[in-house]
Amino acid sequence: MNDADKLKSMLGVIRDEILPLAESESAKGNDPSGSAVIRSDTLTSVMVGADNRLKNPVFHGEMDTIIRFFKLPVHPSTDELIFLATHSPCPMCAAAIAWSGFRELWVLFENGNDDPDRPVRTDRAMFRKLFGVDGTRKDNGFFTSNSIKKAIAAHKHRDDLQTLLEEAERRYAALKPHEAAASAQ
Ligand SMILES: [Zn+2]
Repeated sequence: MNDADKLKSMLGVIRDEILPLAESESAKGNDPSGSAVIRSDTLTSVMVGADNRLKNPVFHGEMDTIIRFFKLPVHPSTDELIFLATHSPCPMCAAAIAWSGFRELWVLFENGNDDPDRPVRTDRAMFRKLFGVDGTRKDNGFFTSNSIKKAIAAHKHRDDLQTLLEEAERRYAALKPHEAAASAQ
């Protein structure tokens, strides 16, 4: 499977499996972020999760997915899997992904300084105020962090990828981020 097919599969999981959950949770007042655990070989999902921080402030989309994944009676080894997150993980979720043993992270929306996808939120304040950094290292010895958007930019002639990306952007733009209760002073 080539890189373009891999991107297409991940965008398909976002469209068909993560977004419906995110839209449902967002309607309840949760954050629209979500994630999935995907097999590296077939690029099909093993587990999908969505934010539920109204129930518990640490139940972010990534935590929900990880907790559900390890409840499976039988599951593949995490080093055979891709962790797909719709938004850059916060410090808690990034550490949970590392602790879980996932080696390959893919992110749709990054929240760097120059990225308008998401305004500076508590996620960024946590990195800055707790650790004095702006985010995780892209290649940190635990996992590599990869950008779906940057990878698609390398496939300029793949209109199908661009169409899937634009659909995801459009649907996410309609969802309001949750304003975290834990805010920096
Ligand atoms: Zn998080």
